[in-house]
Amino acid sequence: MPGAPVVSRLLILGGTADARALAAAVQVRWPDIRIITSLAGRTATPRLPVGEVQTGGFGGAGGLADYITAEGVDALIDATHPFAAEISKSAAEAATIAHVPRLVLTRPPWQFVQNAAVQHMRSISAAKSALESGGQRIFLAIGRQEINQFNALKGRFFLLRFIDAPASPPPFDRCEVLIGRPGTYEDERKMLQQFAIDTLVAKNGGSAASRAKVDAALDLGLRVILIDPPDLPPPPHAESIDGALAWLDSL
Ligand code: NAP
Repeated sequence: MPGAPVVSRLLILGGTADARALAAAVQVRWPDIRIITSLAGRTATPRLPVGEVQTGGFGGAGGLADYITAEGVDALIDATHPFAAEISKSAAEAATIAHVPRLVLTRPPWQFVQNAAVQHMRSISAAKSALESGGQRIFLAIGRQEINQFNALKGRFFLLRFIDAPASPPPFDRCEVLIGRPGTYEDERKMLQQFAIDTLVAKNGGSAASRAKVDAALDLGLRVILIDPPDLPPPPHAESIDGALAWLDSL
């Protein structure tokens, strides 16, 4: 039997499937906890978690600390995307300012049987430099915020995929934009073949939902360039939903 609620208001920094799974698990275990999930607001029709949702930035660590205090939040879980380093930094600082416990729900990067075939890069700009030596038909699967860094690569074909249609055309002479979310292994494999892709560039975000394109590209013998995530935010960390529930239970 679950015990009494350990916190009354939990703020989950979300935008990920892990954050939604966490909100659902907390609600099942402690139905009386008020759960607020915060989204960056990057997509027009995000997948929504159970509980309340707030959308948009807080205005840095100070703004987030003010929000925590104003809403009476008494625990904070950072379940953001591994590449969303700014909000994780703000979360760590805000928790200190507002004197609330904070946990990071981590997600390990992907590992592959064919790991030796993957070119691991420390940054977007290293990935761009690696492409200077080749890659004519590139699936650039890094989201939309950093694609401009590749616009100096001339004469290449870029395949791009965004959840929402971009506000302005991508900065490439030759490209195709697909609107949608990552697909199954079969869908991704078919798409890579349909566009005769020879190189995949992606962020190693570790999410189960977006891994299939990498598996398919490796199986097809394509060149795979993966950008490593930034360093983890400061501890404490949990590596699973159960670990996060145990942390809440321990407060
Ligand atoms: P970021 O660089 O960490 O955050 C930039 C600002 O966006 C933050 O300082 C914060 O604004 C606001 N923000 C981000 N996440 C928020 C959240 N959960 N709730 C409220 N505000 C939030 O993150 P990003 O710009 O969203 O993304 C950086 C990279 O992460 C992207 O290139 C992408 O690869 C990856 N990514 C992010 C998400 C996501 O949901 N955030 C999803 C998929 C991939 P204030 O400073 O004003 O508070």
